[in-house]
Amino acid sequence: KSRARRARKETSTTTLDDVAGIESAKREITEIIDFLKSPEKYRRLGAVMPKGILLVGPPGTGKTLLARAIAGEADVPFFSISASEFIEMFVGVGAARVRDMFQNARKEAPALIFIDELDAVGRSRGAGLGGGHDEREQTLNQILTEMDGFEAHENILVLAATNRPDVLDTALLRPGRFDRKITLDRPHKEARQAILEVHARKVPLAPDVDLAQVAARTTGFSGADLKNLVNEAALTAARENLDQVNEHCFELARDRIILGEEREAHLTA
Ligand code: ATP
Repeated sequence: KSRARRARKETSTTTLDDVAGIESAKREITEIIDFLKSPEKYRRLGAVMPKGILLVGPPGTGKTLLARAIAGEADVPFFSISASEFIEMFVGVGAARVRDMFQNARKEAPALIFIDELDAVGRSRGAGLGGGHDEREQTLNQILTEMDGFEAHENILVLAATNRPDVLDTALLRPGRFDRKITLDRPHKEARQAILEVHARKVPLAPDVDLAQVAARTTGFSGADLKNLVNEAALTAARENLDQVNEHCFELARDRIILGEEREAHLTA
């Protein structure tokens, strides 16, 4: 039996309030949200929205989060699949999954499709070694076919995430496909503070905790790392039976995360 999985469909409850520190990306998506909410306003004016947007950035910088926030704000169904899950499928299955996903999204339009790790199938097609029979290539071709097959007025938006835009097949980037790009960088200090504030919302902080200080000491942390940091600090407080999370908890959590990452880097080196 194939390990292939169908695209997940969910109703996103994520909002722009959950996204911090990436203000320019947030500005760029406001128009897209507005379009998904009231497509007729754009159609009346003859304005055509992009079909596909590429979200580019290192792991944990909020690509999936941003896609969910668009769906949540616009209140449209969110179909998602990770392209890496196509790789081990039998020939033809990946392409069939792609076809299914687009078909389902069309039935429920306006809708948002999210393809994570696009580079897993979207790498530049080699010099014909696979002769077109390669599973990955078929899947990529199906994505291209689907992107070309729906009209801008069908109100489907396809978002795809990658941290390797450099290896993508240029066919994906042509007009009418993923012709818009939103770049997410690792957060700078103020952005880290804003992200910490989002994740500390439900955490009772002791008066000695200064999130600006925490931000200053977490250079190189991604949004995902910062989320993890807040949670680790809260777990530490629970372990010590405190009723507030204090500065010491944050210190311990930070050390644990940094050590953990060093160990991992060591193992994969
Ligand atoms: P990957 O490339 O590993 O799939 P990603 O860029 O899609 O990563 P997300 O899955 O969106 O990253 O981030 C993981 C979690 O980290 C999010 O669910 C969110 O809780 C937190 N996070 C990341 N970026 C931000 C941000 N800018 N603001 C608030 N939280 C963030």
